Amino acid sequence: MIALTDIEKRFGDNLVLKGVSVAMQEGSVTALIGPSGGGKSTLLRCINLLEIPTSGILRLGEETLRFTPGGRVASKDIQLVRRQTGMVFQNFQLFPHRTAIENVMEGLVTVLKWPAAKARERAGALLEKVGMAHKADAWPATLSGGQQQRVAIARALAPSPRVLLCDEPTSALDPELAQEVVDVLGQLASEGTTMVMATHDLRLASKIAREVVFLDAGSVVEKGPAATIFASPERERTKRFIASLR
Ligand code: ADP
Ligand code: MG
Repeated sequence: MIALTDIEKRFGDNLVLKGVSVAMQEGSVTALIGPSGGGKSTLLRCINLLEIPTSGILRLGEETLRFTPGGRVASKDIQLVRRQTGMVFQNFQLFPHRTAIENVMEGLVTVLKWPAAKARERAGALLEKVGMAHKADAWPATLSGGQQQRVAIARALAPSPRVLLCDEPTSALDPELAQEVVDVLGQLASEGTTMVMATHDLRLASKIAREVVFLDAGSVVEKGPAATIFASPERERTKRFIASLR
């Protein structure tokens, strides 16, 4: 359902993604692991086109986009891809002047032009799903980090994206609060939500991900089923990295 073929991303002289090819099936959960600076966030941002790849091919559902250095991508195509993705960030990024439920409604009302009542109904159902219905009218600043992240997950899911992209969703959280977020993501995974997540959190990766991609210095070093990669990685570099997380 998602296929990246030979994706390169350059920032000035810095080639940050060096020809990355990975594919994700519908309903799969993929963990992107690897050292800081290896390109995990950039790869996620290339899937939702927050960054435009320098070259390569991105397929997402029915959309196929080819990138060439200096080439232009129509904003209509960017919108078509972006609307199929939901993004969750390390530091939540909720709108501070909107309540929890208003955060979840926002995209439905402003982007998809839903009537407020219908948006509120869907937002309420999503808050229920992430265990935050009781805080629907709370301001983000009054919520714990784990609660804010659960609201952010509900917001990302509101437009029914094909894929949920999570960039270090538990990294800003104490272990106890991280667990709430792991539980919610685990529940979504078991319901068949397609997810790609960059993470250093071995608990998150090993509990939820079925597939693992190990990205180092802009290249895929190793990829495969999570059980195989965590228990018996082939490459020495993968072994060392996984050992460093334990
Ligand atoms: P990771 O998420 O694995 O830590 P990143 O994708 O954030 O890695 O970063 C990969 C490399 O790309 C780093 O060298 C980083 O400095 C560089 N980089 C990321 N975003 C930008 C940007 N907007 N402009 C310039 N360089 C960037
Ligand atoms: Mg990152």
